[in-house]
Amino acid sequence: MRVLILGGTREARELAHIASGERGLEIVSSLAGRVRAPSLPEGAVRVGGFGGVAGLRAWLAANEVAAIVDATHPFAAVITANAAAAARISDVPLVHLRRPRWVERTGDRWVRVPDLLTAAAEIAARGERVFLTIGRQGVDAFAGLDRHWFLIRSIDPPEGPLPPRHELLLARGPFTLEDEARLLAGHRIDVLVTKDSGGDQTEAKLAAARAAGIPVVVVDRPALPEGAPVVESPERALKWLRDIRTRRG
Ligand code: NAP
Repeated sequence: MRVLILGGTREARELAHIASGERGLEIVSSLAGRVRAPSLPEGAVRVGGFGGVAGLRAWLAANEVAAIVDATHPFAAVITANAAAAARISDVPLVHLRRPRWVERTGDRWVRVPDLLTAAAEIAARGERVFLTIGRQGVDAFAGLDRHWFLIRSIDPPEGPLPPRHELLLARGPFTLEDEARLLAGHRIDVLVTKDSGGDQTEAKLAAARAAGIPVVVVDRPALPEGAPVVESPERALKWLRDIRTRRG
């Protein structure tokens, strides 16, 4: 039974790892090809877009895919919507693998916002020196803020226009609490902006902000398409795959 894992996340790599040794499963992982030196999953990997819903449907048919695990990042909304549409039309079972959201704790000063433009509007009232940790995409939402100073952290350089006063920090997690606390203090950060990515690889910044009493603007995840089940761990996704395999006989 051939399984397509839509990847680009640690959970996708973990699933490829634990499912690779599984009898009766043949795993193919798919990456968008945006990151210059991606962490590669175990087993077969294909790289690059499919060409929208039609391209993905054609790929599913040509490769006789029997099940899809959408293990993309919670903010990769286009590929997730494409996967949902292609799976429905092609009648291929689909599950979304999403790590749990981050949860606010005592001492946190969070404000949740629905999107990056609202995040940009929110920081105006909350601080002047901003630690922007939203990744490579979407930094242009902050490009018009010329009175703020930004420390922008991403793995690869951001796309599009950047705010005029900034420093770029190219780094890949995981990050430790000590590192994050040092960054906040060293750059005199007074507001942090993050996507609600979830997971433990990049959550130290939240603990560092809590300890320093710094407000955090948290951008909510886009809604998942309706219809397919959602699991929160690679182990649960593997169980879902086993159930599909059993049903196919
Ligand atoms: P997106 O906006 O949802 O997708 C844009 C297009 O990229 C899709 O229409 C698709 O092209 C292609 N694509 C995306 N993921 C793909 C995959 N796994 N395999 C093949 N094609 C893919 O995606 P994105 O936000 O740019 O994210 C791209 C990749 O980076 C994903 O694999 C995601 O898991 C990872 N990532 C994203 C973020 C984030 O904050 N957005 C953070 C960390 C990792 P076609 O229409 O041509 O098929």
